[in-house]
Amino acid sequence: MEKSDLIIKNAKIYTINNQFDMADAMAIKDGKILAVGSEDEILGKFESDRIIDFNGKPVYPGFIDAHCHFLGYGTGLLKRADLVGTSSFDEVIDRMRTHHEKFPSTFWIEGRGWDQNDWPAKEFPTKDKLDELFPDNPVILTRIDGHAALVNSKALQLASITSNTKIDGGDIILENGKPTGVLIDNAIELVTGIIPEPDASQLTDALLAAQKNCFAVGLTGVHDAGLEAREIKVIDSLQQTGRLQMRMYVMLSPTKENFETYVENGPYKTQNLNIQSIKLYADGALGSRGAKMLEPYSDDPHNTGLVLRTPDSIRDICKTAISKGFQINTHAIGDSANRMMLQIYGEFLKGKNDKRWRIEHVQIIAPEDFDLFGKYDIVPSSQPTHATSDMYWAEDRVGADRIKGAYAYKQLLNQTGWIPLGTDFPIENINPLYTFYAAVVRKDLKGWPEEGFQKDNALSREEALKGMTIWAAKAAFEENEKGSLEPGKLADFVVLEKDIMTAPDAELPNIPVIKTFVGGQEVYSR
Ligand SMILES: [Zn+2]
Repeated sequence: MEKSDLIIKNAKIYTINNQFDMADAMAIKDGKILAVGSEDEILGKFESDRIIDFNGKPVYPGFIDAHCHFLGYGTGLLKRADLVGTSSFDEVIDRMRTHHEKFPSTFWIEGRGWDQNDWPAKEFPTKDKLDELFPDNPVILTRIDGHAALVNSKALQLASITSNTKIDGGDIILENGKPTGVLIDNAIELVTGIIPEPDASQLTDALLAAQKNCFAVGLTGVHDAGLEAREIKVIDSLQQTGRLQMRMYVMLSPTKENFETYVENGPYKTQNLNIQSIKLYADGALGSRGAKMLEPYSDDPHNTGLVLRTPDSIRDICKTAISKGFQINTHAIGDSANRMMLQIYGEFLKGKNDKRWRIEHVQIIAPEDFDLFGKYDIVPSSQPTHATSDMYWAEDRVGADRIKGAYAYKQLLNQTGWIPLGTDFPIENINPLYTFYAAVVRKDLKGWPEEGFQKDNALSREEALKGMTIWAAKAAFEENEKGSLEPGKLADFVVLEKDIMTAPDAELPNIPVIKTFVGGQEVYSR
């Protein structure tokens, strides 16, 4: 008999190997999987002091979120008021008042998550009520998508923003010649740039708070879409000491510090941290009409959105990425931004290749551009909950024709044969089962619309599960270490109360996680 650290038995294991085989037992040693198979096979060959009977419960590889802001989510948990789900601007004001009572000594007052599309008057708010309530503290309330923010007069003053301020790739909204307090895209950085950065101990608290919540929903890996060297240093040291067990794939923000610290020296990899990607932004977001469209917005006929980076500056970074062995992951929402990225990537990739360059969000694609994903093997990194969050108003923005090429995950999958899935949390909920439900059912949590939103673009359950596991791993060049439960791979897995492959549609988002394991260690138990 061969000695192992842990045996699980009487489980319904989705291995997600090439044949999508099922198994009922697994032996684990030194954080890795020794063998997966039938109970007879495993118990006949391995012994262990620790054997867990899973009572027939389903087991999946630990879920991986292929696009999120893990650290940003943690920071938000600790210091920002949560404005998600507010049904009016008055409710925003109420929540900010409560938040300030809770943290009265904080100078900068921050909130995140409002969405004027959820309010009775679907218009941008103005700073007047914030000025009344907080005359002496700067306030910044970021929109749900992070591409618009409402600030008060104190914040405008500290950031030296006036009605004459101009900024490339951004907008300061004026009314009667005066700033309303709403800032769009790059203009937001004028304010966020002067907020003091959290120090190492605050970053540590934020990372551990994020990890705790993510383990509880079955996540064992995240792709963090844009971090700075000083943040990554904290992550690396927390991982080395074992306090941070979340496996992280890091996309580098294109800052001077990151180029000097990381890009120059080539990819950096430990068992928990993998840095070989550069994150770029091509345009803004649809909700704030910053996504760059080929034709004007259907509900704003003089506006086609914003380009956040020039093609030549993108080309320069692509060149560096090729020579240093880095992946490029570019945020592109509008059909024009996606076309620009497909063409620029095409210049570098020159045909089918295995560089796995990604377009993040791939939200609105012109019909004639879909083929380019297949032609150049460009990875469509998708967030299915965006479809079900935006479906109420997205057609107002782009009209009945362009909406057909929006959130078109099945069409994209047909081009490439694989598709990594994520959430972009904290823009969306962290729960990967919401992703699964949105991808497969394409309804909101109330079951609307009855027939599903553009149901032709739903993924099958098998495809959605792969998108959250093996394909997410592949998008980080990690398909040989994680994303499936096979001998030699990391023992990262999650046990659910019910099987997402067979449960009724409506139950999917609410199935509880029983346990989460990372490297064979239990990191969450219900
Ligand atoms: Zn993002």
